[in-house]
Amino acid sequence: MASERTVKLKVKRQDGPGLAHYWHEFTVPWHPRMNVISALMAIQKSPVTSDGQKVTPVVWECSCLEEVCGSCTMVIGGRARQSCSALVDQIAPDGKTIVLEPMTKFPVVRDLVVDRSRMFEDLKRVKAWVDLDGFHELGPGPRQSQENQETAYPLSRCMTCGCCLEACPQVNAASDFIGPAALNQVRLFNLHPSGAMHAGDRLDAVMGEGGVEGCGKAQNCVEACPKEIPLVDSIASVGRATTKRMLLGWLLK
Ligand code: SF4
Repeated sequence: MASERTVKLKVKRQDGPGLAHYWHEFTVPWHPRMNVISALMAIQKSPVTSDGQKVTPVVWECSCLEEVCGSCTMVIGGRARQSCSALVDQIAPDGKTIVLEPMTKFPVVRDLVVDRSRMFEDLKRVKAWVDLDGFHELGPGPRQSQENQETAYPLSRCMTCGCCLEACPQVNAASDFIGPAALNQVRLFNLHPSGAMHAGDRLDAVMGEGGVEGCGKAQNCVEACPKEIPLVDSIASVGRATTKRMLLGWLLK
């Protein structure tokens, strides 16, 4: 038997990049263990607003549906998070309207879809990879200590979702601060025994304009990160490494 209970959603909409936004409210049937994605799917199936207006279906992005890919990140009730893991009963137990908006620190593509290219460009800027010099047999790689692995593993959980940039006051239209996620990758790959070959390049990439010095130490990032990555520690670690590199550079001049 169909449930009588309903879920109310208010969605911030935008038809394309740079266009004005507007709001639509929807009411969809509730079902047990419903998440925001399934509410959006119900809207897609029947794109009719609460006041009976037939509209274009709401556009959003999703992929893994298990909080690993980061693509379904949006602002839900004022907080950036993944819509796959946002359970309706937890975020609106009293039946209050769930407000969905696109993240504000990235250009809107359409409705709830944003363009996170800047994060991927930043990964290129900091060489967030371990270089290979070919596909020939290289033999076993260098051993990594247990302690090193334990430090590195939590840093490797980043899914480039953008929540930390959304929460960071230093990431704004007037600043070119690279943001916490890329700085965390600098720490991660510089910790790697093979990745450390390019540690200097990574530090150089964040020593200039828009680099680690742009952090205002608000510490919102660590609160916002769904993967509980110790971002403040990563930023502090990269800050110490860049200071050391700068001082060594002066001494060796
Ligand atoms: Fe998302 Fe955390 Fe990675 Fe930032 S550091 S992009 S909040 S997973």
